[in-house]
Order: sequence, then C-alpha cells, then structure tokens
Amino acid sequence: QAKRSGRGRYAIFDPELQRRIDHRVDIESKLRHALTVESELYIVFQPITDQHGNAFGCEVLVRWKHPRQGIVPTFEFIRIAEESGLIIPLSRWIINKTFKTLQSWKNRHIPLPAHVSINISALQLSEDEFVEDLIGLADIYDIAHNTIVLELTESGLLEDIDNTKRQLSLLRKTGFRIALDDFGTGYSSLSYLRDLPLDIIKIDRSFVIGLFQSGTREVVESIMVIGKHMHLEIIAEGTETIQQIDALTQMGCKKFQGFYFSPPLEEEDYLKWKFHPID
Ligand code: C2E
Ligand code: MG
Ligand code: MG
Ligand code: MG
Repeated sequence: QAKRSGRGRYAIFDPELQRRIDHRVDIESKLRHALTVESELYIVFQPITDQHGNAFGCEVLVRWKHPRQGIVPTFEFIRIAEESGLIIPLSRWIINKTFKTLQSWKNRHIPLPAHVSINISALQLSEDEFVEDLIGLADIYDIAHNTIVLELTESGLLEDIDNTKRQLSLLRKTGFRIALDDFGTGYSSLSYLRDLPLDIIKIDRSFVIGLFQSGTREVVESIMVIGKHMHLEIIAEGTETIQQIDALTQMGCKKFQGFYFSPPLEEEDYLKWKFHPID
C-alpha cells in the first residue's frame, strides 16, 4: 500500500520537466554571474553584404563561453534571459560593448561600417529609460545614430503595440534605424508592417531555405514588392548558397547576410573582411 502511493506520488513529478527547470535555474544564475565578470561574454560580427559579398555593415551577435560548460547556444540563453528579465542588463552590456568597440575602431582610423545592427528585445522597449540611455551612450562614445540599426523580432511585439510604436518613432526621430527581424514568422507580420515605423525588413531564414519550393517563392516575391512600395530596405538572412543569392537578386533583393559569404566573426577577423560601402 505504502509503496503504491509512493509510486503514485512520484508520478506527479515529471523528471524531464524537473531537469529542464534545474537547467534553466542553473543557466540563469551562471548568466547573472557572467554579467559581473566581463570575461565570459563577447560579441561577434556577421558581415551584411551586396550580392558580390562586399560588406557595408554587420550584425552584432552575443556569445557566451562558460569556463567549464564551453559555448552556451545563443538562442538558448537569450530565451532564458528574456524570461528572467536578465535581458535588460545583458542588452545594456551588449550595446555598451558594441559602442566601445566602434569607438576603438575609430581611434585606430578604421572606417566605421555604414550599418551596425544590434538586436533588442521587446522588453527593452517597454522600459521608459531605454531611448534616453541609448542616446546617452551614443553621445559618450561619439557614435553617429544613423549607423545604428535596432533589430526587433516579431515575436514578443504583441504586447502594447502603442507603446512600441511610440518608442520606435522616438528612436527614428533621433536618427536610429529600425529593422523588423525574422520577418514572416510572427502572427501578424502584415499589421506590423502597416503599424510600425520601420526602415528595414529582414526576411527570415526559413523563407530563404524554402525558396525553391512552390508557394514560398511567391511569398518572397511578394515581400520584395511590398518592401519596394513601402520604401523599405530588404535584407535576406541565412543565405547559404549562391543559388539562393542569385534567385533573391533576380527578385530585387540587394542585401544579404548568411554563411555563403561569412559566418559571424570575431573582431579581428571581421576587420580583415573586404569593405565596400555601397550606400
Ligand atoms: P537573429 O537576430 O535572426 O540572428 C541571426 C542568427 O542566424 C544568428 O544566430 C546567426 O549566427 C545565424 N545565421 C546567420 N547566417 C546563417 C546561415 O547562413 N545559416 C544558418 N543556419 N544560420 C545563420 P545566433 O547568433 O545563434 O543568434 C540567434 C538569435 O539570438 C538571433 O537571431 C537573435 O534573435 C538572438 N540574439 C543574438 N544575439 C543577440 C543580442 O545581442 N541581443 C539580443 N536581444 N538577441 C540576440
Ligand atoms: Mg537579428
Ligand atoms: Mg534575424
Ligand atoms: Mg533569425
């Protein structure tokens, strides 16, 4: 009898679920620590190019190397950071690091890229201080606002669209540019296009992967047409083959980011990349 109820009780705890919770808590506390030590986090730069592979800019992506666990996948710790609120100090760290790096390039007389994308989370936009802080940091590091592109993913935008709109307008008014990231994967991509003040659309990798399947191709062609009508720049992300780049070029796409030209690179490797401002 006791044994049976014991077993019955045990079944309430799903060991797999428990393992996931433990893992999450573990990552969260390690990330909290990483934010205080400065040595585990770093940023990498993925060139954004024309169809010939001439880079005019880059996207900044964060990396985390734990001393014992090694590289923690970015999508994994970003998700945990968003769920726990750690995304706020983490993003502040990333922006600070990016601006500091750009300033150091300037001091080395390296021409700055015309476009530097930084990912921001919807949670940051809900913080009143965000815009002010960003302007303050750009000031301190002497960064021209129009070189900075803030990338927002569609998922997460759902809440408080009015506030999002207000913050984005403010950012654009002071010269920053806004990109809608992972375009096409959200629940209301078209209403974001209609409602949000934007400069750039980044077509999600899933559309690039499906480019040669019927259906997807037509959708991508239509996105190109909409982008043109709305005077939005379009960047195709996750381009891995020359066939994809050729097909997208034929549809009018002029900007590419993906492994075909380059994976994300550490600073010194990025600086060796061929630069040809095209804007
Ligand atoms: P994302 O902003 O859409 O960034 C592009 C992701 O696609 C990067 O993964 C990049 O390494 C990967 N990628 C680029 N080209 C290719 C390709 O040709 N093939 C494939 N298979 N993948 C490609 P990563 O660095 O792991 O970042 C994943 C996501 O994590 C990002 O997606 C972004 O949403 C988020 N993230 C990364 N860094 C930051 C950050 O600094 N702040 C915030 N808030 N989010 C970040
Ligand atoms: Mg992005
Ligand atoms: Mg993206
Ligand atoms: Mg993506």
